[in-house]
Amino acid sequence: MDDAILVINAGSSSVKFAVAEAGDHAVTTLVKGKLTRLDQAPHFTATTDAGEVVADTFWEPTGGRQEILFGKLVDWLDHHLDGHTLLAAGHRVVHGGTRFTAPVVVTPRVLDDLADLIPLAPLHQPHNLEAIRAMAAAHPHLPQVACFDTAFHAGHSDAAMRFALPRALHEDGVRRYGFHGLSYEFIARQMARVAPDLARGRVVVAHLGNGASLCAMFNGRSVDSTMGFTALDGLPMGTRTGSIDAGVILYLLDQGMGHETLQHLLYEQSGLLGLSGGIGSDMRTLLGSGRLEAAQAVDYFVYRTVRDIGAMAACLGGLDGLVFTAGIGERSAEIRARIGRGCAWLGIDIDPVANARGTGCISGAMSRAAAWVIPTDEEQMIALHAIEALKTAASDDRISKEEFFHV
Ligand code: ADP
Repeated sequence: MDDAILVINAGSSSVKFAVAEAGDHAVTTLVKGKLTRLDQAPHFTATTDAGEVVADTFWEPTGGRQEILFGKLVDWLDHHLDGHTLLAAGHRVVHGGTRFTAPVVVTPRVLDDLADLIPLAPLHQPHNLEAIRAMAAAHPHLPQVACFDTAFHAGHSDAAMRFALPRALHEDGVRRYGFHGLSYEFIARQMARVAPDLARGRVVVAHLGNGASLCAMFNGRSVDSTMGFTALDGLPMGTRTGSIDAGVILYLLDQGMGHETLQHLLYEQSGLLGLSGGIGSDMRTLLGSGRLEAAQAVDYFVYRTVRDIGAMAACLGGLDGLVFTAGIGERSAEIRARIGRGCAWLGIDIDPVANARGTGCISGAMSRAAAWVIPTDEEQMIALHAIEALKTAASDDRISKEEFFHV
């Protein structure tokens, strides 16, 4: 019987999952799906890796009780994963703080430590941890592994990690962590396979999706990232501001804007949505709209991305390659071409034919720095981590095996 890993990515209003068959050095996705409308009648959908829909159904309302939802999910998997046994659940956890710089098998102690980090990521961490607790209740004997979005960036230099604030705040955790780490780690891994010379060099990876950031990598390791203390920093995103002068926040507070409103403004109403005057947060909508505000939103996105690629290249002391990934990076030839033109001074010369094809190397033969499109797969990275963490934990006598199961 083959082993499989259940991957969970739990958010405030939806839970995404994937099941990956566990091989020795690679994993293959068997099925992917999501649960939405968690506090109403949950909508459960699942497709095979080939895109065949294998579930599209509404479940009885559970009043948001996730242990019931996860129980139903495990039950569904029991009936749909012929010949596979679940070995573990791997969870995407947004914040590992300074302590968790690698994936970890969850024990009650680990869970308590992760809960201490909730103030650092109040919009995401509670949902990630709730999913771990719910899964423990639904399937008490399934080991769980937490994989962190921050971990890949843990090796940043002191200067890259700091804000110019009094040192005590840094010690209290007010520092630049960086996010999208599971995506960047997957890209680093893929690069080592498809472009090993480039992987050893100075590369800027552009993760351009609804959430967007850049990572400066040298020899497959993160040197700096545009995201900092939270996933609000850096590039403009679908609905998030990206970098903003902190003085604007002080001004809005002075004007009487409350915390909730401000949070909603910065996370939900800004970015492409705000810039376009409400036309949309989706790049496809903006590219397809003939309106000036949509064009200005796209211009701003390209402008800031080019500007920050320059900053990341400066951190690296030059640029050997630029890698595009995530929804916009993988699928929009137009945005890639525009960003590429903005980076001509860094030696990027994108070949229009290769760019239209949209996979692999897209730079021309004369390009001084390479440009690539590499699809990301955070679920695969989590599954690989879960397998690795289980192996490590199994050989660590200090961890009682009982501990895995009683979260
Ligand atoms: P998330 O951060 O939610 O995982 P994705 O990586 O799926 O997001 O990226 C979503 C973004 O990708 C959206 O802005 C969407 O418009 C954009 N996108 C997807 N396909 C295309 C396309 N063909 N052209 C332009 N943008 C696209």
